[in-house]
Amino acid sequence: MTLECNPLAQTQGSNLAFTQTALTALNEIDQAMSFHLQWLQELHQTLICQQPVDDVMAAENGHLLCKFGQWYTRSEATLGLHGGYLELGASHRAMHDQARIILQKHARREAISLEDYARFMDSAHAFRAEAHKYQAELINQVCVIDHLTGAWNRFALSPRINEESERARRTGQTCCISMLDLDNFKQVNDRYGHLAGDTALQTVARFLSARMRKYDTVFRFGGEEFLICLPNTSLLDAEALLNRMRVELSETDIVLDSGDTLHLTASFGVTPLNTLDTFETSLDRADHALLCAKAQGRNCVCAWPMDGTCPSTSTSTL
Ligand code: GH3
Ligand code: MG
Ligand code: MG
Repeated sequence: MTLECNPLAQTQGSNLAFTQTALTALNEIDQAMSFHLQWLQELHQTLICQQPVDDVMAAENGHLLCKFGQWYTRSEATLGLHGGYLELGASHRAMHDQARIILQKHARREAISLEDYARFMDSAHAFRAEAHKYQAELINQVCVIDHLTGAWNRFALSPRINEESERARRTGQTCCISMLDLDNFKQVNDRYGHLAGDTALQTVARFLSARMRKYDTVFRFGGEEFLICLPNTSLLDAEALLNRMRVELSETDIVLDSGDTLHLTASFGVTPLNTLDTFETSLDRADHALLCAKAQGRNCVCAWPMDGTCPSTSTSTL
């Protein structure tokens, strides 16, 4: 089997692509919010300085015509399905609806009541709060993705594993975690250079992600180490699954940009999550099992059962 080194594929690829989208959106939202402040200033100017009402500002679809609205509409294709995008649009529209009420009264030279004004300002504050919330969501998205491989990074680890630990405790199902370290990876850098090493890491991340089941998760733990979370999986099943993956990885041609092909193997440590202890304790056990796999000669899976003392090593794919 041959894998082309295309990082923008599979789950990792969509993570990476969305990270880029989120970074662009964060810049654009800043600008869109300063357009919003200009709009707010013009509205107050109209009311306080007794200026004629701008038709666009008071229009039924004013929320689409203002510069923030124009950015919002333009972004639908890339951001539309993510997080609080719809809520942001709804609060923006609600603010324009309140603005229209007071602008129309002003145009008719009717008094604007304190309640009308308070409703408008409440909606303006709610809109700003939604915008801040949305920006925080995008920042969070950028922070939990490893920017080289697109796998989840260490920030994402603790909340996710704690969540799985809680689920396992509630349901009585076993969740296994596995620490994986590429074998002799330094030699790849030494022989082909660090950029080629980076490409190989991206390919391995894509390989792992493509083999995960729906509820499994891959994190980049550190340099060439990945942590795999396997919910609802007995230690025996986890061992078999990891062994199949181990063999498949060793048989995979990793094609570098230079056209060179290399082969990588990995060592795995695996243990069930101890739901009665901190997840760091289980992480330590997975790490210790990984050290045993390395000590046993690499390219193998070492399992540490919950009640066992000494990890056992296997290379069986059954
Ligand atoms: P072992 O089988 O004992 O794990 O040997 P190893 O060579 O894989 O282990 P070692 O810890 O000596 O080296 C790990 C290497 O991984 C060294 C480091 O340069 C490389 N590495 C870590 N992070 C990155 C990265 O982001 N990009 C590249 N290209 N290399 C990395
Ligand atoms: Mg290594
Ligand atoms: Mg290492």
